[in-house]
Amino acid sequence: MDYFPIFLKLQGAPCLLVGGGEVALRKARLLLSVGAELTVVAPELTPELAEMAKQGQLTHLRACFEPAQLSGRRLVVAATNEREVNRQVSVSCQTLNIPVNVVDDPDLSSYITPSIVDRSPLVIAVSTGGGVPVLARLIRGRLESLIPSGFGRLARFAAGFRDRVKAGIPDVERRRTFWESVLEGPLAEAVINGDEAAAVQAMERRLEDAGKQTAQGAVYLVGAGPGNPDLLTFRALRLMQQADVVLHDNLVAPELLELVRRDAERIYVGKARANHALPQGDINLLMVELAQQGKRVLRLKGGDPFTFGRGGEEIETLAAHGIAFEVVPGITSASGAAAYAGIPLTHRDYAQSVTFVTGHKQDGSIHLDWPALTRPAQTVVVYMGVSTAQELCLAFIEHGKPATTPAAAVEWATTERQRTVAGTLRDLPELMSKHHIASPALIIVGEVVGLADKLGWYRTRVC
Ligand code: SAH
Repeated sequence: MDYFPIFLKLQGAPCLLVGGGEVALRKARLLLSVGAELTVVAPELTPELAEMAKQGQLTHLRACFEPAQLSGRRLVVAATNEREVNRQVSVSCQTLNIPVNVVDDPDLSSYITPSIVDRSPLVIAVSTGGGVPVLARLIRGRLESLIPSGFGRLARFAAGFRDRVKAGIPDVERRRTFWESVLEGPLAEAVINGDEAAAVQAMERRLEDAGKQTAQGAVYLVGAGPGNPDLLTFRALRLMQQADVVLHDNLVAPELLELVRRDAERIYVGKARANHALPQGDINLLMVELAQQGKRVLRLKGGDPFTFGRGGEEIETLAAHGIAFEVVPGITSASGAAAYAGIPLTHRDYAQSVTFVTGHKQDGSIHLDWPALTRPAQTVVVYMGVSTAQELCLAFIEHGKPATTPAAAVEWATTERQRTVAGTLRDLPELMSKHHIASPALIIVGEVVGLADKLGWYRTRVC
């Protein structure tokens, strides 16, 4: 490391800013936001800086820089566009051991300013040693999107309990575990979601129980989207990185599982058709058991948990056992396939409604409302329909849908393995078997499928 990272307290500290332009204005705002007592030395000020001086937020020295102005300063920033002036400031400060930053000039600076993510009191500073500020800003951008705005609230909330927790749990190691379970558990989620009253109550209870150490687990039923990791929600990603144990099935791509916290336990409860690794009832009870052991259980589901995901059944069991849970929606595969295959599910000219159905057989046959599904001006998306494609397409035709209606199958939608075959109700089953389209795939029926020729943008079509 070339620089020693610190956070400096500058409330009421005399600081000098050399320069009166736009760059100086940004630095002035930053210094004032931490309560510095700011003097700006410059022959001229921008209108905003002049206004700030007029309102008494800073003192303006209408002059050129002179070393005498440094007397008593805690920190100096040089933001003029004249390198010679900046150099003089730098040399004078370094003689007097006053920390100095020359904007965008690490060679003349004794300290550099990082890119910051401000969730005060939580602040993250990113630096590339002054070498590649753009990279620091890119990383900052990523962190901005990863760390919800509610984290500031969480940091304030936790700070408010700091002394009491310290007094209540004197042992350092136990206190650390306590904070970890608070900051990564349902209580923290409540604060982030803005339910502070509930969080305060829960915190009081936790403090009372601190001696007894009764950890309370929770289950997060999380939609992982159709397979492309970029389509995860921020919330899904965050919960994935906190989980103690993850229950997943075969719809969850390995790339997604890699994003789960490294030391989380992984349990495969997969469901290849007719080869249920674990019956649904057992999965439900396993989650209850793990949560009762105080674990944060992540139930990761392909697509959206409430769209053909049996998410409802899973949380009914949790609710019945009084386990805390949360549901995080995901992009359902129909939305993913539609977007990535260029098939808008509704379209003013072709489809005023869209229906999602399952092609899965129950008691040996497909139970669907055919009169409704064959009405014109709608799109039908069939989940779990690969093995019954032939029967499905035939049933559409038998119930009055023209055999020439466009129909497509999209396999592994949104992933690098995506393949689309498109034809009509009459020839789709044959095309699917010719190209060995296998699960997971969706069948989309309706005039909108015809738009894929024009609107498809992701990966080439198979046919
Ligand atoms: N909850 C999931 C659906 C689970 S049912 C969701 O919201 O998407 C399983 C079916 O979803 C599969 O048989 C297939 O029809 C569909 N499916 C899931 N992921 C898919 C993908 N990446 N591409 C195409 N179909 C997919």
